[in-house]
Amino acid sequence: MPAYPEIGLYIDGTWRKTSDTLPILNPADETEIGRCPIATKADLDDALAAAAKGFALWSRTSPHKRAAVLCRAAALMRERQEEIAQSITREHGKPIAQARLEVIRGCEFFEWDAGEAVRLYGRVIPSEQGIRYIVHHQPIGAVAAFSPWNFPMSQPCRKIAGAIASGCAIIIKAAEETPAGAVHIARALHDAGLPAGVFNLVFGVPADISSYLIPRQPVRMVAFTGSTAVGKWLSERAAQAMKPVLMELGGHAPVIVCDDVDPIEAARLSVIRKSRNQGQVCTSPTRFFVLEKNYTAFRDAFVEGAKAIKVGDGFDPATQMGPVANHRRLAAMEELTADAKAKGAKLLAGGTRIGNRGYYFPVTVFADVPDDVKAMSVEPFGPLALIAPVRTLEEGIEKANSLPFGLAAYAFTHSARNVDLLTDGVECGNLSINTLEASVAETPFGGVKESGYGREGGAEGLHHYMIVKNVSHRMAMG
Ligand code: NAD
Repeated sequence: MPAYPEIGLYIDGTWRKTSDTLPILNPADETEIGRCPIATKADLDDALAAAAKGFALWSRTSPHKRAAVLCRAAALMRERQEEIAQSITREHGKPIAQARLEVIRGCEFFEWDAGEAVRLYGRVIPSEQGIRYIVHHQPIGAVAAFSPWNFPMSQPCRKIAGAIASGCAIIIKAAEETPAGAVHIARALHDAGLPAGVFNLVFGVPADISSYLIPRQPVRMVAFTGSTAVGKWLSERAAQAMKPVLMELGGHAPVIVCDDVDPIEAARLSVIRKSRNQGQVCTSPTRFFVLEKNYTAFRDAFVEGAKAIKVGDGFDPATQMGPVANHRRLAAMEELTADAKAKGAKLLAGGTRIGNRGYYFPVTVFADVPDDVKAMSVEPFGPLALIAPVRTLEEGIEKANSLPFGLAAYAFTHSARNVDLLTDGVECGNLSINTLEASVAETPFGGVKESGYGREGGAEGLHHYMIVKNVSHRMAMG
């Protein structure tokens, strides 16, 4: 097995260590696998200076050259897929097959945004003779980005790709608990020839780093993926400095199972998605609203499928679901389960920690869940599924919209009428029908309501990293 990488700060094209560090734990057995450096203010000042220098150079670099660097880095990460995947499974716990797919997904973000980099068209607005109105899209400046621990590779890839493709510089604080993915990205960008200063990687105490970086120059934009609470906190700081934000926050995805589909197949697909990444996905399907005709069959098939999911060490090829990523998620699963039981929801599968070493928690299924159960409104961010019957599609849509979140939503139906009702009625950024895939590199991804604003990916993704500048040019003065 390749060694877990040494974790450092990457500033102005060089690696550095710090005297203060945090432990990195393997969630499969709670052993320490490495140490994560804590950046000092001097390190952050150096990163800011490097980003200013990097932006001056990169914003004037041709889009084709920017795209070429991203594609070279993606090719290197593809070559290093196995090494990267193994370090992700060690620090995060996800099954190795899912870690391998995550590496490829990160590469796809790089490759898609590289393609978009050369299509950042402006426009010429028709006017009377002698005057030209030309709209330019220009990179916004340096980006302060903050990525979470649930996808150590693909989450940072999204933000790094957006910034670099657009001609920005970036200082990213990746997650201290799962830092290896970002370290591998830094290595690939370095080896691909990215000039020093364009990309900088730091770690430390999250609130100290974000509150230091956000108000300072050359930071012109803040990008974050994580909880709604932290997103609001960061947005307040960005607002004080009048800097725009890209916020990809929590979700609580509803799944509406209509009465015209095979409930067994819908349940089979749902269990696979629920267990993916141990349920620690902002698009994870969580609230299942099933039309009465299909309710019993869906519920029973879901429970059977959940009980069959093999939970274990992510390196065991038979494992379908690893441990949750940290002790906070384990505590949250135990708390939400106790609350649901106390309020009368029927526990049909899982519900208790597996063993006492490693953060193992099974797929846990509650049925006939009353609305006041805490997990119905608090994002579980773990392998918890809540199933409730609804009488009509309209009732399902109403329940889907009842929370302040609106990130991903799903439905199973073959009826064109139902699809129209869902498309018009569900408040979300990403609606998927007959599939539980919520986003791919080529589609815009993001939320509405308290799930945030802005989009990553798709043709829209790079626009957040650009400013719009209109130039009015009269041929004669006057
Ligand atoms: P959290 O919100 O404290 O942390 C989430 C991420 O944000 C971490 O990687 C952390 O380093 C970063 N962070 C936290 N405070 C920050 C700050 N002040 N400045 C900059 N970055 C900061 O919570 P957690 O315990 O790690 O996770 C709990 C909840 O976070 C979950 O229940 C889930 O709702 C949400 N979450 C969402 C996503 C997502 O993909 N949208 C990812 C991870 C966590």
